[in-house]
Amino acid sequence: MLTKAIIIKKQNTNEYDQLITCYTKELGKITAIAKSILKPGSVQAMHLDVLNLVEFDLVDGRAMPIITGAQGENFYARMKNFLPALAAGYFLAEVLDKIFFEEEKDVKLWNFAADFLNRLEAEPERATAILRSGQATLLKLLGYFPMLEKCVFCSAEMKNTDRLALSLEMGGLLCQNCFLRGFRGVFLKKEDWAALISAPFTNDGASNKGRSVLDGLFEYTFDIRFQSLDFFYQVVR
Ligand SMILES: [Zn+2]
Repeated sequence: MLTKAIIIKKQNTNEYDQLITCYTKELGKITAIAKSILKPGSVQAMHLDVLNLVEFDLVDGRAMPIITGAQGENFYARMKNFLPALAAGYFLAEVLDKIFFEEEKDVKLWNFAADFLNRLEAEPERATAILRSGQATLLKLLGYFPMLEKCVFCSAEMKNTDRLALSLEMGGLLCQNCFLRGFRGVFLKKEDWAALISAPFTNDGASNKGRSVLDGLFEYTFDIRFQSLDFFYQVVR
């Protein structure tokens, strides 16, 4: 079966083989084995690097499918040469690896993933903006986008002055009343709000360089500390 895939993780197994976890267009996430990839001169090795878009044949193996004839279609060289963009790419890989089950085909998610990498490759210096808007899109695709129209506690219509805090537990904005009454919320930065409503991103604020409420939504919702985000904030300037 001919398959298009984004490589998201590699692990050594046996002496010369590697387990390759990837997100495929045809099958969703899968883990397959690449035989002899660690032998010197392996033709497949360079094609099967993490965050490559590749095409390969999957053939039936005893325990799991075997990858043959891997051909890199996009190596995202510009993205990989700019650390913040690479770190944003790793975030995608970590999300695909940790949040999704195997073999659940999802063409929308595939299109999102390919588009996200293409955007990082086209404009690596805009990594922060691309990461934030990608996170917002992903939350929508997954059904976890926060409620912005009404207060998540009292259902009051939100006023402009209410854009103050977001409850990670409840997944929505808190009105000023509820915030002042002591319901727990994460303070919303200007940039967080812009990312949530997909407004144009300005890269001037110093507050851009710390964690955003979108990161918080991911970590709270999926109960995962994303190492790729730690890496991202170490390298972003
Ligand atoms: Zn309220």
